[in-house]
Amino acid sequence: MPGFPPLPTDGGGMLLHRASIPAVLTEGNLGPADADGLVLADIHIADGRIAALTPAAARPPEGALDLDRGQVWPGLVDPHAHLDKGHILPRAGNPDGSHPGAVKAVAEDRAANWSAEDVRRRFTFALRCAEANGVVAIRTHLDSQGPQAAISWPVFAELREEWRARVALQAVGMVPTATYAEEEGEALAARIATTGGLLGGNTSLPAGATMERMDSWLDALFRLAMRHGLDIDLHVDESGDPRAATLGPIARAAIRHRFPGRVTCGHCCSLAVQEPDAADRVMDLVAEAGITIISLPPVNLYLQDRVPHRTPRWRGVTLLHELRARGITVLIGGDNCRDPFYGYGDHDPMETFTDAVRIGHLDKPIADWPTTIAARPADWMGLPEHGRIRPGAAADLLLFRGRTMDELLSRRRGPRLVLRNGRPISTELPDYRELDDIF
Ligand SMILES: [Zn+2]
Repeated sequence: MPGFPPLPTDGGGMLLHRASIPAVLTEGNLGPADADGLVLADIHIADGRIAALTPAAARPPEGALDLDRGQVWPGLVDPHAHLDKGHILPRAGNPDGSHPGAVKAVAEDRAANWSAEDVRRRFTFALRCAEANGVVAIRTHLDSQGPQAAISWPVFAELREEWRARVALQAVGMVPTATYAEEEGEALAARIATTGGLLGGNTSLPAGATMERMDSWLDALFRLAMRHGLDIDLHVDESGDPRAATLGPIARAAIRHRFPGRVTCGHCCSLAVQEPDAADRVMDLVAEAGITIISLPPVNLYLQDRVPHRTPRWRGVTLLHELRARGITVLIGGDNCRDPFYGYGDHDPMETFTDAVRIGHLDKPIADWPTTIAARPADWMGLPEHGRIRPGAAADLLLFRGRTMDELLSRRRGPRLVLRNGRPISTELPDYRELDDIF
């Protein structure tokens, strides 16, 4: 790769000299960070692991590979994806780009086409994209309504095993919340407990349903999760309508049940259009319940406030800064890729982060926002071996030419090298034509 020193491919070890690392993604004292939050370090790699991490030497040590202040990040973690849904766009378009349009298009495509083989092909394609981009772990949601659960969960279990050493996988069952009050929900929870996964779904209020009904469905969900010892990860308030907001009711349910597991709420778009006092009360509850929020900025930008022939007026993202200011954990996820919910995307958390910084003003200062695609999702997903550059960890690293944050975030998918266990892997992305035969 032009600009990078040639790296040994035998895994025998190397010393990366003058690596700029976001201080929030390291451990130990590497000296003061610069205005971009970066520290300059030497990374000693041996036997596939980081043997030592030291402040950059004044002169290149013998045999060192000089990165000339190019940034180095740990392997990336995407806490919210839909690998079962990705890349169906060639056969399932979204006619108006709206959220209801996406729901309808996916439901029709799922019923017609989502065989085990179809899901496996697209899921695998997505994993190959993610791996080439430097991703080490993904939590994906799996559409699990009706007959789909029996198709997609076994495929997921196979691929989780097949990819165990390359991309760590977690899955969340995705159904309307009301399902958990029915026999189908009981069976799904049992399936997820057996396979290993999380309970999840969409908390949007069906037409004509009251918030009291939602409370009863949430009670059923929390009781099932506790009975099986499962965590919960929901799609919440993916709209601009604050009257239908369920984030507060979810937090109250977690508190009411003294839920011992982890609750994650994705999207939470409408929180940003609540009256300020009401939003404050909801965020206080979220903090009290210990809920983690995942924001999906590119997808929110795509779907929210979309009205034909009208320019969108808001960005769709939740209250990122206000949540963080309360000490609530905020993560950034990629969500959909080339499907009716998002017509773009490439399973690249760095691209998602770049969008998030621009959409959510996560700079000035960039502070600890780089943790949202590495250290924090790794911690939240229970993957302590990932997310940080620290001695003892596997040498799973992304090497960029960009030295400063502006150099890194200006050039979309600029040159990067990906090391896994200290060895460079291919960063070539699979060709879309490989999927042509399933359409
Ligand atoms: Zn999602």
